[in-house]
Amino acid sequence: MCGFIGIFGPDGVDVAPEIYEGLLAVQHRGQDAAGMITYTDRFNLRKAHGLVAEVFTESDMNDLQGHLGVGHVRYPTVGENRNEDAQPFHHTYPLGTAMVHNGNVTNLAELRDKLFVRGGTRLNSTCDLEVILYVFQQGLAERFAEKNGALDVEDVFYAVSRVHETVKGAYSVCALVADLGMVAFRDPFGIKPICFGEKTDERGRWFACASESVVLDVNGYRRTIDIGPGEAVFISQDRALTQRQLTKEKHTPCIFEWVYFSRPDSFLDDVSVYKTRRRFGKALGKQWKALGNPIPDVVIPVPDSSRDAAMAVASELKLRYREGLVKNRYIGRTFIMPDQVSRNSSIRRKLNVIPLEFRGKDVLLVDDSIVRGNTSRRIVQMARAAGARRVYFAVTSPPLVAPCPYGVDMASKTEFVADGRSVAEVAEFLDVDCLVYLDREAMNQAARKGNPCLEHFCNACFTGEYPTPDVTLERLKVIEDERGTQRSNPATC
Ligand code: AMP
Repeated sequence: MCGFIGIFGPDGVDVAPEIYEGLLAVQHRGQDAAGMITYTDRFNLRKAHGLVAEVFTESDMNDLQGHLGVGHVRYPTVGENRNEDAQPFHHTYPLGTAMVHNGNVTNLAELRDKLFVRGGTRLNSTCDLEVILYVFQQGLAERFAEKNGALDVEDVFYAVSRVHETVKGAYSVCALVADLGMVAFRDPFGIKPICFGEKTDERGRWFACASESVVLDVNGYRRTIDIGPGEAVFISQDRALTQRQLTKEKHTPCIFEWVYFSRPDSFLDDVSVYKTRRRFGKALGKQWKALGNPIPDVVIPVPDSSRDAAMAVASELKLRYREGLVKNRYIGRTFIMPDQVSRNSSIRRKLNVIPLEFRGKDVLLVDDSIVRGNTSRRIVQMARAAGARRVYFAVTSPPLVAPCPYGVDMASKTEFVADGRSVAEVAEFLDVDCLVYLDREAMNQAARKGNPCLEHFCNACFTGEYPTPDVTLERLKVIEDERGTQRSNPATC
C-alpha cells in the first residue's frame, strides 16, 4: 500500500511545497521510502529510503522546481529495497513521462517475461510501476509513430487503454507527460482509491490528484472527482479537463481501506472513512448484544485505527469508553518486523497499558483486524498483567484468511491465525474470554451506506474470492513466493 499526489499548478509556480505537504499527510500509507519529481524543461528527481521529513532536504526542495509534479510514499510489498525501487519513475521516449502508483500488478511475472526477458528490454528496478510505465510509453510510442509526433489527449487515453488491456491487478496511477499534461487513472475494477480536486487563487487554476482525499484537504483543494473504475482524467497544457470512461468491470473497491489503511479524515469513493468506522462500531455493538455476550465494564480501543469504531461500540452498549493503551508514535510498524521475536518486543515497545483502566475490570478491547494474532495476544497478556478480571475482544472486520495480491501487505496464507481455526479456537489462541468478529455483510453495508452506488467491495482477504479473474491459485503462489523472498528485504507497493 502506498500514497501519492500529483499537482498541475499555474505557470510559474512551484508545486514541490504542496507535494511535500501532501506526502506528509499520507505518510501512514508508507514509511519505507519517499520521492518526488517535478518538471521544468526537464525532470528534477529526488527519491530515497526514509520518511518524508528525512528524504527531502532544503536544498532538494530548492532543486525541485516546476509547476507540474508527482510525489510518492512507499510501503513495501513487491520489489527490492534499493533507492532505485522507490517511486516516482520516469522514462524519456517518446515523450518524457513521470509516474507514481498505488496497488500491485498481479501478472507482473508474465509481463516481465513477455516484455522484457523475451522482448529484450531491460528493467532498472524490481518495482511493478516500471512495467506500467513501460506499457504506457509503448502506447504513446505507437501513436507517435503513426502521427509523427503532435500527440494529444486521445493519444494519452489510448496509452491508458493499453495499460488497462495489458496490466492486471490493482493500480491507481498519476502520470506527468512532458509538454502535454497530467493524467490520472484507475484499474478497471477500481480496487485502489484515487481522487481528483481543483482550486483557484490569484495565480490561476490548480489541479491535484491523490490516493486519499486528505492530501487535497491539507493543500486547500476541493475534491471534485472520485475517479471511477477504468476511468481516466486528463488536464492539458491549456488546463482543459477531460474525463473518460475507457473500460469498466464490476467496481470492487478494497474494503480494507476503510477498515485499516486510510485516515479517518479521508473520503474514498465519496464515503467518509470516519463515518464508516463509526458504523462498523455500531454494528459490532449490536452484534455483541444479539449474541447475548456478557456486558463488560469498559470499552478500550487498540490505538489508533480502531478508536472511532470503539467509541461507537461503547455508545451502542451504553458503556464507558476509556483509553487504556498508549501508543508510542515514534516506533516503526510492528507488522513488518522480519521475525517473531523482534515483532513481539516491538509490540511491547509500541504499546503500554494504563493499569488503572484494567485493574479489577471486565474489559472489551476493540481492534480493526487480527492478522497473525500476535498483537492481540500480546495486548491481552498486558491487560491481564495489569489486573483485568476478564478480557473480551471485538474486531471491526471478519476473520482474515486469504493473502492480498492487490497491494495490502497481508501475511501469506499460513500465517493467518484464523486460517483453519474456528472463532472459538482463535479466542483460545488469544486467551480471551470472548471474541466477536464483525459480520462481513454488516461491514460492507457500513461502507455502502455512505454511497449506495457502491454495490460490491473487494472482500478477498476475508473470502479468498478475488475480483480480478487473473488471480488463480498458481498466480497467488507466484506472488506469495515473490513476497516471501523479498520479505527479508522488502520494497514497493
Ligand atoms: P497481528 O499481530 O499480525 O494480528 O496484526 C494485527 C494488527 O496489525 C492490528 O492491530 C491491525 O491494526 C494491524 N494491521 C492489519 N493489517 C495490517 C497491514 N497490512 N499492515 C500493517 N498493520 C496491519
